[in-house]
Amino acid sequence: MDWDETCDVLVVGSGAGGVTGAYAAAREGLSVILVESSDRFGGISAYSGGGMWLPGNAVLRRGGGDADLASARDYYHTLVGDRTPRALQDAYLDTGAELIDYLEQDPHFAFIVYPWPDYFGSVRNASATGRHIMPAPLPAAELGPLRAALRPNLGEEREGVPLAEELWMGQALIGRFLLALSKRPNATLRLNAKLTELIREGDRVTGAIISGPDGVRRIHARRGVLIAAGGFEHNAEMRARFGVPGEVAGAMSPPSNDGTAISAGMAIGADVDLMDQAWWSPGLLRPNGRATFTLGFDGGIFVNQDGQRFMNESIPYDRGGREIIALMKRGALRLPFWLVYDDRDGGMPPIQYPNQPIGDIARYRTAGLLRSGATLAELATAIGVPAEALAATVARFNTLVEDGADADFGRGVEPYDRMFTEDRLPMDRIARPPFHAIAFGLSDLGTKGGLRTDPDAQVLDKSGAVIHGLYATGNSMAAVSGTAYPGGGNPVGSSMVFAYRAARHMGRAEI
Ligand SMILES: Cc1cc2nc3c(=O)[nH]c(=O)nc-3n(C[C@H](O)[C@H](O)[C@H](O)COP(=O)(O)OP(=O)(O)OC[C@H]3O[C@@H](n4cnc5c(N)ncnc54)[C@H](O)[C@@H]3O)c2cc1C
Repeated sequence: MDWDETCDVLVVGSGAGGVTGAYAAAREGLSVILVESSDRFGGISAYSGGGMWLPGNAVLRRGGGDADLASARDYYHTLVGDRTPRALQDAYLDTGAELIDYLEQDPHFAFIVYPWPDYFGSVRNASATGRHIMPAPLPAAELGPLRAALRPNLGEEREGVPLAEELWMGQALIGRFLLALSKRPNATLRLNAKLTELIREGDRVTGAIISGPDGVRRIHARRGVLIAAGGFEHNAEMRARFGVPGEVAGAMSPPSNDGTAISAGMAIGADVDLMDQAWWSPGLLRPNGRATFTLGFDGGIFVNQDGQRFMNESIPYDRGGREIIALMKRGALRLPFWLVYDDRDGGMPPIQYPNQPIGDIARYRTAGLLRSGATLAELATAIGVPAEALAATVARFNTLVEDGADADFGRGVEPYDRMFTEDRLPMDRIARPPFHAIAFGLSDLGTKGGLRTDPDAQVLDKSGAVIHGLYATGNSMAAVSGTAYPGGGNPVGSSMVFAYRAARHMGRAEI
């Protein structure tokens, strides 16, 4: 092969997994090239809360969080079952604490406990406070010129809200890695550089073809290539081929999460799994046609085309998304459905955490996504549902509120449901006119099917044999959590863990 360039480790993508892999490989003394296909570093991880579900870690222990690894293991195994290999699950569970110890040895990293209840609060050993940590905030000024290369958050990128002077959450996570990487001369990070093809020689991937500002380059990776290129949620053809519910308009990631790197893996013989899966959420429909990840419903009810309530509105978002999908598959729910609420907040919907600012509510009305009525009957006409049914649904809901318990859908039973209401039942009577309804669809936080790996993130072929020199993590990897979303911080936490394991493995690899 006629190579243009050589490194030890080629990392593809700069989300949580990519920057972790690049950092760990560089710290192990390997020469690293990271290529990012878009014009900013960070991927959807830069939009994210930056939360990490890493049980038993030192930050939880010091901060009084739930640091019991044995109970976390039991909870995780119960939920994920045998949908993914037990050894893969244990690699995730057993490496999180080690990864945090490793990062905390470097002054660029600092973490805080951020209590966030596990997502299946009724399953044995679920934690009411979670096993969840976040990066400590980072003054944006510390990034210097790197700030312009960091993907902004959703508020700035999609709504034009200026970035704060202090970076939080996913911004702080990626920012801290970019700073740490900038001190490692053996790591080179490139924007607008896209992996289009992997090169396999015999049983080994030896490099990749990267298309960038300087044209097409063949990069030789002596130890390996780590695919950390996110999911394929922006690829309509792949979504249709693999049967991923929802649409591109509901994808929260930047458009560059297009599945090219996963396809490149498949083209050289890699096996894939969980290809119809994503991390889902009910999605607030925006005037620009997008459905966006929304959580923290502290009032209102979802109603279907028959004017009936159909789920616990405060349930963890992925469970909510999966209920919506199941109902749609049975023909019991059509999109859009509506969040019905009253005027106690002057027409603003009872949403504590829209993830990107709701913005000017009048735009939703103009787009037909927000409708109102002086009476419930008028609202029913406005959204095209039977008036008697809507009146009966609201009357029933108001009775449940007065009873202090949701006997129909169990809203408020689990700790997560109450986390946005300071432990209060997240339900208020719908009684103060005028009445409003805002439209909802299905959103996703990324697909989670991808290249099948072993516990060191080495990609496997269809016979289960390792393809040497090829690694995958994050949403490019068939998720360790299978079809479950056990708790906030699973996507980012597991992406970082398998990237770290891949880098350490490449550090030990014989070439
Ligand atoms: C608002 C919001 C909040 C969230 N909060 C949390 C949270 O707190 N905790 C949590 O665990 N999860 C959270 N999630 C989900 C989480 O952000 C993602 O699932 C996770 O960050 C995916 O990380 P990743 O490592 O797979 O890579 P990504 O962040 O998806 O990054 C992949 C990168 O690869 C690049 N790329 C793609 N193809 C190529 C190619 N061919 N060549 C080169 N580069 C390529 C992309 O441009 C992108 O920059 C949240 C999501 C959203 C939208």
